[in-house]
Amino acid sequence: MWCCALNNLPTRNNLRKRGLQGHTSCSKCGAEEIIKHILFQCETIVEVWDMCPWLAPLGSPSGSVSTFKESLQHSFARVNLPPVGSSASLFPWICWGLWINRNLHTFENKQTPPPEILSCATALLREWEAAQPSSSDRSRTLSPQLPT
Ligand SMILES: [Zn+2]
Repeated sequence: MWCCALNNLPTRNNLRKRGLQGHTSCSKCGAEEIIKHILFQCETIVEVWDMCPWLAPLGSPSGSVSTFKESLQHSFARVNLPPVGSSASLFPWICWGLWINRNLHTFENKQTPPPEILSCATALLREWEAAQPSSSDRSRTLSPQLPT
């Protein structure tokens, strides 16, 4: 999220700005490969966002939002619907899934269907949530130990 917000993700456009030779086109559709394109605008990406199982009073991220930071801020207001099984934000996990999808397509020429990208993002969210310490674990860990 931090790399995206600061425009530090190694997109082809950013690599060119840093002096690397090569084209700046998206390997899927030929548009300029910038963060907004990879995460919100490219062909199948729009489908992934449209399929998200959440209450989306602000519309899909691929629509009216103009920057990654805006999309991130809007994501805090999103409410997951029951198939997700978590109240934590799905947004970062979808972004991660889309970046992995971009890399698989760019370097291995693999196509991942939008439902599979979304399913993987949901699984990663659940896995991350299960790995978080419970509130009782956190309070036990943070309690100071008295000398004996
Ligand atoms: Zn594209």
